[in-house]
Amino acid sequence: MAKNFVGANSTTQNPRRPPETRSPTTSPFGRWRFDVMTKLRILPLASLLVALALSVAPVPSDSAALVADTFTYPIPRLQRVGLPKPYGVNNPDLKGHSQCYGVAKADLLHAGEDWFAPETTAVQAVANGTVVYSNPTERYPGGVVITEHNLSDGTLVYSLYAHLNPDTFIVPAGVSVTKGQKIADGLIKQTEQGNDNTHLHWELRFFRDGSAINRGPKYDRTCAGVAGPGYTYPGHPNNFLANGGKGPTFSWTDPSRFVATHLSVQLAPQMGGPVRQRGETFFTNQVQFTYQSGQVILSGDPPPTNLFAVDDAMTLTVTRPDGTSATWSHVFEVGCYTINPLAPVDITNLFHTGVNVVSVRLYDVCGVSEGTANAIFLTNAVP
Ligand SMILES: [Zn+2]
Repeated sequence: MAKNFVGANSTTQNPRRPPETRSPTTSPFGRWRFDVMTKLRILPLASLLVALALSVAPVPSDSAALVADTFTYPIPRLQRVGLPKPYGVNNPDLKGHSQCYGVAKADLLHAGEDWFAPETTAVQAVANGTVVYSNPTERYPGGVVITEHNLSDGTLVYSLYAHLNPDTFIVPAGVSVTKGQKIADGLIKQTEQGNDNTHLHWELRFFRDGSAINRGPKYDRTCAGVAGPGYTYPGHPNNFLANGGKGPTFSWTDPSRFVATHLSVQLAPQMGGPVRQRGETFFTNQVQFTYQSGQVILSGDPPPTNLFAVDDAMTLTVTRPDGTSATWSHVFEVGCYTINPLAPVDITNLFHTGVNVVSVRLYDVCGVSEGTANAIFLTNAVP
């Protein structure tokens, strides 16, 4: 139990500021200071969350069924050359009439992102998934791989990697991959008007097969086929509807933005209630977390920069791919009077490369109240 959380819901505020000087109107923990009625409403929800966490905890066994817990970029951002050509923009360099949609090529919108990089650059899977399409000789030019990813809510999303070098390794269809696993060993050399135009074109989209995409009677290269054209008709690519209209989600999405918002998994929600039995464990959860490279940061919401706090304590156990485990724990209460929030913590050393399972336990120490200041997240901050 704690009378107050010391500090604030932002790293920009002083965590040592005494609670009595904190203005209630700006308290980020306003919802934390519930009255009796709020407690009565929250308690059944907290119990439900515990029950849910215990019943649906994912335990990875068969890699073919691995959930895409977090995403990364297909090439480490440090390895790309200059800024990428973004998603959803016109390409004024495209000249002439489109044979895909019957409009001028210069009016078409980019359905993915181009990342310029040397031809020796390896390409990695952006998340756990299954390779559902691999064609090393697709006339994109270069090879194309499409991987299916199963999000924890059941949504399927597909990553497409194009302009792969057919003369080096390209992962075959049917293979399961984990986040960061190599899917190609290089990019096909491209030049445009004498300039180096070697790049990866990559997409994230909510459909697998682009062969139903509108096309004219004469088409060449990628205007038809599973890979799709790489460009879409005037209108935002998010709203793209293939032939027959598969609904509003049957579309592409901004790939870098998607990855940026899928670097984290939630370990615990914002929650709170009265203590029934002093010292009790009031929340447990188990999540899959695939680690490839970079830092793993434990933080509050929004991740990975915000403070976090538990009334009163937290234990986190990581079971690594080789079966070994490591534990991090912290008691937030001080003298059963205040809760000291923690700045984001780097817990990279708890993880090994591959699929780790993270078990979380939140427990009371002082009685009276229990909960979290805000949701708690684990983030793989990738290079
Ligand atoms: Zn492109």
